[in-house]
Amino acid sequence: MVINMAAKASEAEVQHVIDRIQECGFQPHVTRGAERVIVAAVGTGGSRSALEALKAAPGVEDVVPIAYPFKLVSRQTRPERTRVMVGPVCIGGDAAVVIAGPCSVESREQILATARGVKAGGATLLRGGAYKPRTSPYDFQGLGLEALQLLREAREETGLPVVTEVMSTDDIAMISEYADMLQVGARNMQNYALLRQLARSGKPILLKRGPSASVKEWLLAAEYLLSGGNSNVVLCERGIKTFDSEMTRNTFDLAAVALVRELSHLPVIADPSHGTGRRDMIQPASRAALAIGADGLMIEVHPCPERALSDGAQSLDLNEFAKMMRGLTAPIRPLAKM
Ligand code: PEP
Ligand code: MN
Repeated sequence: MVINMAAKASEAEVQHVIDRIQECGFQPHVTRGAERVIVAAVGTGGSRSALEALKAAPGVEDVVPIAYPFKLVSRQTRPERTRVMVGPVCIGGDAAVVIAGPCSVESREQILATARGVKAGGATLLRGGAYKPRTSPYDFQGLGLEALQLLREAREETGLPVVTEVMSTDDIAMISEYADMLQVGARNMQNYALLRQLARSGKPILLKRGPSASVKEWLLAAEYLLSGGNSNVVLCERGIKTFDSEMTRNTFDLAAVALVRELSHLPVIADPSHGTGRRDMIQPASRAALAIGADGLMIEVHPCPERALSDGAQSLDLNEFAKMMRGLTAPIRPLAKM
């Protein structure tokens, strides 16, 4: 249930609602907007009718059921859009952000050249995998701690905050020392032990959509983070599995980007690199993602894609990245006139 307080509700009236929600057996989550306070009552096992009776409490304007199973993620509990700060970079604000870098950190030269190049091209965050979720155990698994140290060096030189994936609860504390934002990869979207612990990490989280996850499942995964106390969550559409994997690696579900912006207050970015798996699709797919409302992009970039140890086929080189960035804001074609 959501308890919408009246615009003129006093602090004591808000506190009374919070107390009653607890007495009724629910957890109160308070959102203080520019105009009014909204108190969400979440949990199970409490008395719903007692909550409904709060309509009669002073300062309460309305008590409405939350329409979806994801509650704290829903725009019903927070009509204003969430902005997530990653170091000095704001995700979900007026300007779209670009997170760029290699799929995997491979060497000092590779990550430093990439970091310099993507910064010059206009990226505001640096990505790079240290621990890689590879489909085959025989493929390159990432440089681990060495990669984290190299990412730190790249950040110190360029000032770009670092985003890197965490695959295991065992690694959260260590990776948090090096990274500014922790990525939950598509394969781990429903790793609830990981989500629960990340909720307590206090770090901004980039939550990728699982390759076979519905939008509802994706938002429920985000709900684990918010209900566990971490609202610094950015969603990332990265393509889903469909019948067509002949020409593209995944099906880039851009409608989902627009949909989650309707359903949720969380920022959402798009990853056309994994979404399409094709470097020739990065430019048009990125433009489409921004046009449909994405708060940013995640792009894989490598100084020499043909030598990349992972995801070379979908990586841009530094010149291609700079060109892609220049083309991002070109107007879409004009409409024909009669
Ligand atoms: C990645 O970002 O390199 C990655 C492995 O992404 P995903 O989890 O979307 O496959
Ligand atoms: Mn990759």
